[in-house]
Amino acid sequence: MNEAFPVTTILMEWFAHCQRPLPWRQSYDPYQIWISEIMLQQTQMDRVVPFFLRWMKRLPNPSAIISAPEETIYKLWEGLGYYSRVANIVKTARILCDQFDGQLPAERTLLLNLPGIGPYTADAIQSIAFNINTVVVDANVERFFARLLDIPTSPKEKENSIYIRKQAERLLPSGQARAFNQALMEFGALVCTPKQPMCETCPVAGFCEALQQGTVAARPVRGRAQYAVKINMATGILIQDGKIFIQKRLASDIWANLWEFPGGRMRPDENPADTVVREYLEETGFRVRVTDKLVTVRHSYTVYRVTLHAFCCQFAGPPSEPLLGAAQENRWVTLAELDNYAFPAGHRKLVDLMLANDLNLSTTTLTG
Ligand code: SF4
Repeated sequence: MNEAFPVTTILMEWFAHCQRPLPWRQSYDPYQIWISEIMLQQTQMDRVVPFFLRWMKRLPNPSAIISAPEETIYKLWEGLGYYSRVANIVKTARILCDQFDGQLPAERTLLLNLPGIGPYTADAIQSIAFNINTVVVDANVERFFARLLDIPTSPKEKENSIYIRKQAERLLPSGQARAFNQALMEFGALVCTPKQPMCETCPVAGFCEALQQGTVAARPVRGRAQYAVKINMATGILIQDGKIFIQKRLASDIWANLWEFPGGRMRPDENPADTVVREYLEETGFRVRVTDKLVTVRHSYTVYRVTLHAFCCQFAGPPSEPLLGAAQENRWVTLAELDNYAFPAGHRKLVDLMLANDLNLSTTTLTG
């Protein structure tokens, strides 16, 4: 590929006419770009938009974040997953208010010192928010270059990622990093898509090596496949006097600060109901007995495929005060109040199911 300039021009023109009207593209406010980039980590664009709009309505700047109750912040994030991102946003908002007058800095070294901002996010903030000449290479950009340049090995390999970055830098028109980087990413997302790229109408088809070599379907070359890890878990909905017991996870845990029903991983050869009884004793000191099987919920995160067995349960003897064996706080709440708390994905599915089916707290059965 020798003619860098035509490809850049074509991509920039394509972006000017075909870009999606995303809410953070209206003002390119650095705070909005920062939040959008953190939300977009591991999450599809279409899914992020409603979360972003709700967030901006309630938390329009860093000072709103540090003044908001923690419950509000986690509730706004509930469903996006990877909750360590929220904790980092709060820490960064505090630093911005304390040290930067509530503004995002533009300097790379300062950005990299902020919690939750790594090299990729720093590139994105610098170029998209501040229009500084730097490139942003995400999976869409990798795929586009793997095809445009017909790269015969995985773009994840170190030498290939360096090569792709250099090619992107070569095409970058000085002073137009904001539009250029978004054009590349958007083109990969909408035209040079993972499956069935739109080669027949592609405006850079004439420059595409993979198209000319007939290797589009084989590019990008995949890296080593990740294997799914199956996990079996069990949890119990403990009901007492028409209320349900929930606990808030430790700040140091995975899914830190989210709420849950006590439970955990099943041991090998352990029956899920026995897991619930054991976990309640370990985590809360409660002696419970399982009354009904409620439902089995399946969900995935990263490489994990989780099967969550949910049961209703009751105290096996006189009610006692809970210990904080695996939590920072606990509460008894009504069924309707469950909706006010942020839960990890598996437990949120369970809550939605209980609400939709109007779990009967006196008979502990689903009535729907
Ligand atoms: Fe991607 Fe096809 Fe265009 Fe090549 S011709 S850049 S493979 S969409």
